[in-house]
Amino acid sequence: MTEVQTYLYELKIKLEQNYAHQPEFMQAVDEFLGTVAPFLEKNPQYVANNLLELLVIPERIIEFRVPWQADTGDWKVNTGFRVQYNSALGPYKGGLRFHPTVNQSIVKFLGFEQIFKNSLTQLPIGGGKGGSDFDPKGKSNAEIMRFCQSFMQELQKYIGPNQDVPAGDIGVGGREIGYLFGEYKRLNSYQAGVLTGKPLAFWGSLARTEATGYGLVYFVKHLLADINETLQNKKVIVSGSGNVAIYAIEKAQALGAKVIGCSDSSGYIIDNEGIDLATVKEIKEVKRGRINEYLTIHPHAQFFEGQNIWETHEKYEIALPCATQNEISAEQAQNMIAQGVKIVAEGANMPTTLTAVTILKENQVIYCPGKAANAGGVSVSGLEMSQNSQRLPWTFEEVDEKLDEIMENIYKKCRDTANEYSTPMDLMAGANIAGFERVALAMTLQGLV
Ligand code: NDP
Repeated sequence: MTEVQTYLYELKIKLEQNYAHQPEFMQAVDEFLGTVAPFLEKNPQYVANNLLELLVIPERIIEFRVPWQADTGDWKVNTGFRVQYNSALGPYKGGLRFHPTVNQSIVKFLGFEQIFKNSLTQLPIGGGKGGSDFDPKGKSNAEIMRFCQSFMQELQKYIGPNQDVPAGDIGVGGREIGYLFGEYKRLNSYQAGVLTGKPLAFWGSLARTEATGYGLVYFVKHLLADINETLQNKKVIVSGSGNVAIYAIEKAQALGAKVIGCSDSSGYIIDNEGIDLATVKEIKEVKRGRINEYLTIHPHAQFFEGQNIWETHEKYEIALPCATQNEISAEQAQNMIAQGVKIVAEGANMPTTLTAVTILKENQVIYCPGKAANAGGVSVSGLEMSQNSQRLPWTFEEVDEKLDEIMENIYKKCRDTANEYSTPMDLMAGANIAGFERVALAMTLQGLV
């Protein structure tokens, strides 16, 4: 083994001993450590400085109690988290997730990935993530508001426009950001740049709602352009039907693709005539309902209750997983290949297990990792921060154009870095190394802190 391989091996063993109880975190770290050896061989100073161990330990993890009152009058409590992972490139930046599965392993994996994602955007933002195991499903608007206010009572001690700037993620959209912002303002002062993903009514950015989904499809568009293809008439399946999924469907359809399926945690729908997005928006954005309600308006569609969309027997070429982590297992990856998938581009964070990624790559499926392909959301959050500082809103077209440009740059950076250090089109290695390169240099220049 080379010195670099020994270093990576020993680090992995040490981390496994310490963090075996945090499987999602270890999965994200394993994926990263598995790709960076060629870069470290050329940059031995980072091994000499033990930079990777510094990188995988968060600068700070804040964990707190969130007490809140239900409409019934009952007293409830949840746990809140904020992981301030790495500030080498700027203030911590990353979303808040409200979902019953949230724990330290989940926020650490998300925060770790966020460091490289934010680095890839070339914007001056560090990595962070947070959330709570609070389940917003079935809660009244008043309960959501009280929970957000209580959550911010504690979180406000640790964030600020030049310190840590949270945004949304699963279960946290414009409504929640609005309540969080209101509480921050009451406790501090009007700091527009303390949160991004704000509603358009006050300091939000046009195209932020659309950014992650649109950005994902722009990434695929630039990838296809490289092989002289377009999205025109391509069959696409999207998982999820939340913020990322909806705007991925919208942009894919706008570029001529035929999206035939989407899902939520209750099951998936297939509409071979093409998903009617207006119906999905009405169910999800307005009524906050379940995906099977699609069939009441489109009875020709099919609903597969309790099933995973990646088990479908429909044929398609492009998969856009936009729901949650580890939604694609090894068996599901095999099935996707059997259905003809050629590109898997991740709108969600880490939706594909490591074994599934290996299977996809071995079968010449082009795999676009979330930390690159879904960076559009944080990119436009960065642009929202710029607009807030300038006190000048930009038009939808200006933001959208910049988003497309950023996604093109990210795609090309990943492609070129893969060519330099790994095998062509190994975009996972490309994203990890390109993301790491900027952070490693900044950390080194700032000394041992
Ligand atoms: P939303 O809460 O808006 O939507 C999440 C969607 O995924 C819902 O349809 C939800 O269904 C589904 N889902 C969640 N958990 C599961 C599960 N265990 N099984 C099946 N379906 C599930 O979240 P977003 O669209 O914002 O986020 C989706 C993904 O994109 C996440 O991985 C997030 O980290 C990532 N992401 C989001 C960004 C953003 O800007 N919002 C930026 C970058 C990445 P149900 O309603 O039934 O729970």
